[in-house]
This record gives sequence, structure tokens and C-alpha cells, in this order.
Amino acid sequence: DRHVFDFAEGSMAEKDLLGGKGANLAEMTRMGLPVPPGFTIATTACREYLDNGDLPAGVAEEITAHLGRLERTMGRGLGDPADPLLISVRSGAKFSMPGMMETILDIGLTDESVHGLAKHSGDEHFAWDSYRRLLQMYARTVLDVPEELLEAAVSTEYAEWDVATPEELPAGAIERACSALKQVIAEQAGRPFPQDPAEQLDLAVRAVFRSWSTPRAQLYRHQEQIPDDLGTAVNVMAMVFGNRGPDSGTGVAFTRDPASGAHGVYGDYLQDAQGEDVVAGVRNTVPLAKLADLDPVSHAGLLTVMSTLEQHYRDLCDIEFTIERGRLWILQTRVGKRTAAAAFRIAVQLVDEGLITLDEALLRVTGAQLGQLMFPRFDGQHDVPELARGVAASPGAAVGVAAFDSVAARRYAAEGWKVVLVRRETNPDDLPGMLAAVGILTTRGGKTSHAAVVARGLGKTCVCGVESLAVDPVARRAVTDEGAVIEEGDMLSLDGTAGVVYRGEVPVVASPVVEYFEGRLDLSAADDLVRAVDRLLRHADGRRRLGVHANADTPADAERARRFGAGGVGLCRTEHMFLGERRKLVERLVLAEGASEQEAVLEELLVLQRDDFAGIFRAMDGLPVTVRLIDPPLHEFLPDLTELSVRVAVGQATGSPDADAESLLPAVQRIHESNPMLGLRGVRLGILIPGLFAMQTRAIAEAAAIVTAEGWTVRPEIMVPLVAGDVELRLVRQEIERVLAEVADRTGAHVPIRIGVMIEVPRAALGAERIARSADFFSFGTNDLTQLTWAFSRDDVEASIFPRYLDAGIFAVSPFESLDVEGVGRLVRIAVAEGRSGNPDLVIGVCGEHGGDPASIAFFAAAGLDYVSCSPFRIPIARLEAGRASV
Ligand code: ADP
Ligand code: MG
Ligand code: MG
Repeated sequence: DRHVFDFAEGSMAEKDLLGGKGANLAEMTRMGLPVPPGFTIATTACREYLDNGDLPAGVAEEITAHLGRLERTMGRGLGDPADPLLISVRSGAKFSMPGMMETILDIGLTDESVHGLAKHSGDEHFAWDSYRRLLQMYARTVLDVPEELLEAAVSTEYAEWDVATPEELPAGAIERACSALKQVIAEQAGRPFPQDPAEQLDLAVRAVFRSWSTPRAQLYRHQEQIPDDLGTAVNVMAMVFGNRGPDSGTGVAFTRDPASGAHGVYGDYLQDAQGEDVVAGVRNTVPLAKLADLDPVSHAGLLTVMSTLEQHYRDLCDIEFTIERGRLWILQTRVGKRTAAAAFRIAVQLVDEGLITLDEALLRVTGAQLGQLMFPRFDGQHDVPELARGVAASPGAAVGVAAFDSVAARRYAAEGWKVVLVRRETNPDDLPGMLAAVGILTTRGGKTSHAAVVARGLGKTCVCGVESLAVDPVARRAVTDEGAVIEEGDMLSLDGTAGVVYRGEVPVVASPVVEYFEGRLDLSAADDLVRAVDRLLRHADGRRRLGVHANADTPADAERARRFGAGGVGLCRTEHMFLGERRKLVERLVLAEGASEQEAVLEELLVLQRDDFAGIFRAMDGLPVTVRLIDPPLHEFLPDLTELSVRVAVGQATGSPDADAESLLPAVQRIHESNPMLGLRGVRLGILIPGLFAMQTRAIAEAAAIVTAEGWTVRPEIMVPLVAGDVELRLVRQEIERVLAEVADRTGAHVPIRIGVMIEVPRAALGAERIARSADFFSFGTNDLTQLTWAFSRDDVEASIFPRYLDAGIFAVSPFESLDVEGVGRLVRIAVAEGRSGNPDLVIGVCGEHGGDPASIAFFAAAGLDYVSCSPFRIPIARLEAGRASV
């Protein structure tokens, strides 16, 4: 098998084999652009080298053969003492990992050939400076000599000549610096700097291969979710010299502005310099436009190349170039990284320029990028001092007064303040405070903690895991490690995009994209970014086969979901309707003695629930609303057992008994469970406490009748949670149908109400065929399905176990964030296939948080689901991703 290919042999399609840099160098060579000649040693060789510690058999010979060809093309021999050919040895993996791996320039210089270079170029300074660069780079990357020692070896000359950079030294001083460097190398590496050019090349290739496995490269790959086993290619390329005087230089350029997407080239240029100088930032670059004055011919040539590249790649390209004595060379190009705003603007520009179709444009933007555009942000220029840093958990910018619990948060909000909720961590009880807040700050937990997940779902800014902050909820204050104190009511600013907390008020600007979705900004008054988003979303809507519904529990949520383009409510959770003041009713329900007392409580709840549903039905006029019957264990609505026991004990000890606590305690003890999530909840409540599901069904049917009578079109659906077996569903379905028939008889309204099931227990997925015979629809509850498939208690494992699991590569991303396609996805596929065979008319959706996750949406589309349901704020993201999945 061949492992080495000339640039002229490859193409941009071969990134797997040649790496991104190599494939694009090959492509540019074929296009006839001015690329220095060279060849690529393929990723296959790297993988073998990393596995076996040696290059595959035959590679050395292949390299020699390709080098021979390169030498003939250039008319010079590598390291020839009279007139040396110099080469660079450059890393380049399939996915760009900027600055993560090694590149070595000026290979081929030796104690002898440096004189040849000097003589042939007529420039002593240039020759010695190139040798100095090689020694430094080689020592650091190939021979592992510490950087400081190399710096020290060169800097002794600085003082003597009163200069700050090595380039400013006279040739003789650089020559002395080279001797000093060689001495450090010999001492530190235990071997002299190799004077055989072929050995230089061989060791450099191996070092570049090894640089794939450095800890920083690994960390980068984990963050960017790049697989660890791809390996890098090595590109060997004839050197061209930007460090040959004022008519030489080097630079980087973009065909459009990668920050804003604005038209027009953009870049930096550095005169009399070699590649790494631009990035090193020691010398100041000039804007690309300045090159037009310095060297108008090269500048014009560069613009032509850039426009050729854009036409060819049909996208924003970035390039690295070098000018050697007025001659332009292109050293690298790739489709350039860009911000979210630039991605949308450029995609639409390219459509207008006739370079790409709208379908292609849709593939150039992502749901995650749209998400970034939807968050408000801080004004870039501000001087508010930073207080602490944590995990950037949910992007955006929030400014508000600190509140240390829900009660305070709601009080401030009611007074018209914007609020930042500050907690050690959050749990479902904090929801009212989270809803009242614009931002959430926690001192514990990571990106998948309760606070982070809920904040992202709600579209609220969140910084979590701010460990340098200690929260004292009783004293209502937080203290930083440095002793700075935040009292309740103090102003805080959270940057959820960067994970920074500020004391005081950082100025915020709203996202115009959201203003537009909310109907507060007219398209005709909007800027080109909003128009680009709108255009691509419309195209996605026209393309997608996947419906997008919303998880909405309140009329306000439902209305927003509708404005954001939801095609229905895919999950209306009813447990939120038992919180707040209604907790008392649940307490009475649990305490009720005898059927009549229980019925009385249920009757009170019925009236409240009917109103809840009516509001949502009106908001979703004409669209389906899937109501999930009550799911959580009842004691979630009651005081905590320990807390209650303490209250009783304290009351008795102090002689003032707590009557409330004493009456509740036996009931709470009775329904206490050691594994409540696996206990009396979901359909099991429906079977053991039949009045509960019946009451909810009645509330839904009566609300439907009332709202229909008002003239709205109502399409309710009833969803039964936590079903594992078909008999469970059949039992509650009979009960539900009985109630529906009874209400229809009584009211005369015959609103069709579909009855379906949440598939969230592995047993249900595996028994889908039988279950589907009694179900009108399935909706995957992928949160519970993931918990139960992996045996992870989400609230317990995310902070304690997941960081280690992510580090160890057990999964690349939390299975609660992106669906675990291999395992949970398999259950989904089984349930879809068997469910449809049990009931060909079965409608199938997903209502877990994965419904709003871009990667998971692509899977659901491929698995043949009919819709995804997600939080209102994620609706546009899901619409875009569903469209992308269809092109
Ligand atoms: P990275 O992937 O970190 O950008 P590169 O392989 O692109 O590393 O090399 C860094 C820089 O070295 C390039 O931007 C270029 O300026 C310079 N360089 C690489 N090869 C050559 C060459 N053959 N001639 C001149 N400069 C080169
Ligand atoms: Mg580069
Ligand atoms: Mg569930």
C-alpha cells in the first residue's frame, strides 16, 4: 500500500487520507495556483506509527523517491552544501486543529549548507537567521529541549546589541547564537543536532506524528468531539522565504470577514517575516490593505487567488501566504471557521451570488449557531470588574439583583426588578425562582446540572459551578475567596457565554433575532442577519418532514411556542399545576380518609385544572395539544420526610407542638419510598389511585367542550406516562374512555381525543407492538429512557460521575444532552418499527430534552419519527435542524 503522494496526485476529497491541509494543497496544485511543490505522507502511516512505534514498511523508500522528485523539480538537493533545498515538515489532520500539532521549517540547513544558502542568496543575515529558526524549532519539537533554555541561549546576544528580537541581530551575532543553541541541544538532548539532512527529515516526520498524541491535542479533540484515532498527515513542502528583506513577507487572509460575514477581504500581513512570526504576535502586523501600498502586484495577485478560491470552494476560505522577493506563494487554504452571525450572512450571500442553492445554504448553518444568535449579549465595551468565573452553562447576558431563594426572587420580580437567582445548586423546587429570574448562578455542578439544563430549556442565562463563591442562604449573602461580599439585592451581571460573573451592571443588548420571532421587530426594519435567519428558516420549514412541537405547561409558554413556529404542544406537563398554593390540595388528597373526602379534593383540583387546560387549548387553536397525565410520585408535593420529622421533634421538645407537621407525618411516612423514581408514579398512580387520572381526563374533556363552544378548534391528546406493559395501558385506557364518553354524553360536545403513551421505560420499547395496539400515538420520553437504559440517576450522576466519564472517553457527550444513538437509539428504532407494525396509523414523536438537541434531531428524522417536541425557545433551532435533516 502506498502512503506517500505528491501534491499533484491528490484532491480536496481526500481529507481522510491526506488530512485537510494536504488535501487542499493538492486541490490548489491542481487548480494551478502558486503552491510550492511537495508531497504528503498519509494519515495511514501516522496510525501505524502510533500503534507500532515505527513507520510502516516501505514508507522510508517512498519518502526518498518523492524527495528525489522534489529535488529534481527544484533543481537542488536537500541540504546540498553549495545551494541547499530547504523544506518544511507540516502537520495536518482531517479536521483542523489550529496550533495544536507541530510544524518545522527550514529543514536541510546544516553547519555546511548554511554557508551555501548565504552564498547563493547573497544574504548572510537571512541564512543565519533561518538556521537559528531551524535549531530552535527542531530542538523544541523534535528533541524536547525546554523553550526557556533555548530563549536564554539566544537572548545573551540581545543585551550586547541592545535589540528585542533575534531578527534584529547582525549576522555574526546570530551565528554565535546558533553555536549556543547547538550546545544547549547537545547537553539537553544527549545528542548533537543532526547534520545529516535525511535524518533531520526522518526525525521531524516522526515528531509530527507524535504531536497527534500530546495532552493538549487530546484535550482539544475531546472538546471539539474529534475522534482520537484519525491521526495526522505530514506535508513536506519546498520552503519559500518571507524573511528575505522588505520585498518579502507573510500573512493570513480571509475572503470575507469571519466575524461579521461582511463582504470584502480581511487579513494581516507582516513584512520580512516567516510564518510563525505572525501568530507569535511579537511583531505588529499591518492590515492586508496596506500590502496594496507595499507591493501592489502581489496584492492584486492575492485578490485574484482569493476570488478563485471562493468560486471553487463556494465558501469563505482562509489562506496562509508568503511573498518572497515580490513573488506570491499560497501555503494553505481551508474553508474558514466563522461566528454564528457570519455563518448565516455568508450562506445567504452565497445564494444571492449564485454560488450555492438554498438547500446547500441550509447545510452551512447549524441549530447551535442559531441558538447563539438568540441570546442577549453584553456590550463589548465595558469596565465593570469581574467577580468570579464558573462554567458557561447557558449562553447570554443577564443583569439583575441577587436573590438567594425563590421567595426573594419572586418578590423582587413582582417589584419590577430583574433578578439573578443565586443558589448552591438548584432542584425542581427552585423552579418558581428560576422562572422569575433572568439569570441563574450556582456554585456547584456543571453543564448538565439541573440549573444548567433548566436554564437552557427556558432560554435563561446560567453560570454554574462558580466554586470561588460560597453561598450562605440563611445569612442571604455570598462571599468570594478573596472576601468580597454580595448581599441580597446587590446588582450582578452574568455572561453565560463566557462563564463570567460581574459585580454591577454590564450594559446588555437584546438579540434582534428573538425580537423578530416575538413579533416586536418587523422584517422590513431588521438588518441583514435577521433577514438571513428568516430566509433559511422558511426554507427549512418548506423542506422538513419532521414536525416541531413545543413542551409548554402554561398558556404563556404555548403562545410563545406558537410565535416561534410550533406545530402543536407535544408535552404539557400537569405536575406544575399542583405546585404553589395547590400543594395544600395534594396534602389533603393524601390525608383524605374515605372516598367522599378524596372526591371533594379532586373536585377542587378539577376546577383549577380545567382552567389550566382551557387557556392552553385557546392558545393552540387548531393545533394538537398532548397532555401528560400526572407523573411524579405524590410525595414530591409534600414536605420532605426528614424536615417534617425535625419539625415534629422540635415542636415537642420546645413544648409548642407543630400541629400541621404532626398530622402530615404519618402520611408522608406511609408513602415514603427509598427509590421514588422507580416507585409509585406515572401509570401506576393511575392504576392505584384511579380518581386522579379520571379527574384529569375530565378536566381535559370539559375544557375541550367549553373552548369548542367558544368557537375554537381543539385537538387534545392524552398521554399516559411510565407505561411498561400493554395491560397497564389497557386498564387506564378503559378508565379514560369511560370518562370521555361520560363527559361527551353530559356536554353533548364530541371532541375527538386521542389516547397515547409515553415510551420511556425500556420494557415499553421492547413490547411496543402490543402497546401500540392500544395506543393512538407514542411519544419517546428520552430523559427517563436514558436514565433507565444506562441505570443513571441523572440528578446524582451529572456532577459526580460524568466529568470523569467524559474525560475517560466513556462517552464524548453526556447522553442526557445528545441521544445515545447506539443504546437508547436502538430502543427507539425497535419501538418505531414494532409500534408501526402493531398500529400502522401510530403517530410517533419525542418529548424528551433531546427533541431540541441538534445532533439528536438528525437521528430522530432518520429513525422516521413524525415530530420532535422541545422547549419554546428551542423551536426555531429544531425547525432549522429538521430542515437540514431533509436536504
Ligand atoms: P499550522 O497548522 O499550525 O498553521 P502550518 O503547517 O500551517 O502550521 O505552518 C505554520 C506556518 O509556517 C505557515 O503558516 C507558513 O507561514 C509557514 N510555512 C510552512 N511551510 C512553509 C514553507 N514551505 N515555506 C514557507 N513558510 C512555510
Ligand atoms: Mg497553517
Ligand atoms: Mg418521564
